[in-house]
Amino acid sequence: MGTGDKNAENYRIVILNRRLQFQDRAADETLVGPARMVDIEGRCTDCWGPVATLVDGNGRWISIACRVCGRRVDAEDAERERKRMKREADRNMPRVRVGRGAKYDEKAKFVLKILPDMDRNKAEFEERVDDAKRRAQPKRKGERRLTRREFVEMGTPGYLYCQACALVSGLGALPRDTSAISLLDFDFKNSGSDLSRPRVDAQGRVQFSARVPLKRSIHGLMGKRMGTALIAGFAAAFACEVGMKAILMTRCDEAKMTHDLLDLYESLPKDCKERLQSDIAGIADILSKYRHVFSEWRYFEPNAGKDAFLALVDLDRIWGLERAARAIVDEGTVAGLQYDIDLRYDFDLQSMAHVNEDLTFTIAPDDVTASTKVSMKISGHESAIPWDAILAL
Ligand SMILES: [Zn+2]
Repeated sequence: MGTGDKNAENYRIVILNRRLQFQDRAADETLVGPARMVDIEGRCTDCWGPVATLVDGNGRWISIACRVCGRRVDAEDAERERKRMKREADRNMPRVRVGRGAKYDEKAKFVLKILPDMDRNKAEFEERVDDAKRRAQPKRKGERRLTRREFVEMGTPGYLYCQACALVSGLGALPRDTSAISLLDFDFKNSGSDLSRPRVDAQGRVQFSARVPLKRSIHGLMGKRMGTALIAGFAAAFACEVGMKAILMTRCDEAKMTHDLLDLYESLPKDCKERLQSDIAGIADILSKYRHVFSEWRYFEPNAGKDAFLALVDLDRIWGLERAARAIVDEGTVAGLQYDIDLRYDFDLQSMAHVNEDLTFTIAPDDVTASTKVSMKISGHESAIPWDAILAL
């Protein structure tokens, strides 16, 4: 590094997210147009997790890393990846601002996800929701459908969205062992007694086999890993389910009351599926493989079969589903879903006090009652996005 790089060692970690405003539309324009504002966030293509960069004092990227799976690129590769990501995002910008899916390089390790803040048309949205409320008949027996009759208050889909976001955040905090079972788990030292007599086959190769027992110390650990995989699988499947139901409610005013992930995916609006497919190639296949995790595979029943069991403990596949869940959460943001969590802490102390002559007061230490109350309020929001007009642009 040359002497001109005095600032080079002032490293800082930067989370990749920024907001861009566009001035290419007149402020008083009333026609629907491309999004005036977008949020840009880094995503790892392996797990669709958020991305952080290590930047030196000269603004050079030293390293790019995924905050969920730990994937990273360093040094010149990081600088090269930055330029590539930037070019790609510039190319994607005009498409994404009018609701089309982004196009990413197949080999990209990290990408910039653009989340457009679409125009609003409150009157049109309210009319649509009111109409949906009127149309929603009381359910016939056996019919399983969520409608605006259940989601009377506008904004309610935001609660479901909040739940999907919380599940996805929680999944990121689970340990990421790569497999429920590893070769290191087997006790090769003590496998000698089961060794078969060597055989020589027709090609002259020597063959022998042995049964290698598991290390005793592993039994508890394996249970933990398998349990983590199960928790991750169920939570990822449930995040996908509530995320898609939230999107369906805000976009279509109804959603099937099903756990079947493929069924929910197929009922999403076309533009929504296109964006999801752009972010996670083959997302329909992933959801299809896992479509029954919550409905039929919750129990280790013999009739759930080998597939169900493997799917539930195979971490590689579970992380695939988690990736889909993250992309669905992004799509919820694009669909205009939001939520707020408001935490309040109230503290109340009471005592009989004796007021002194100098106006100070004394309290009797054995006569104090105190109470604390923590209250949490979640509120959900929807945005009145005129999708038909935007997609016609
Ligand atoms: Zn990652």
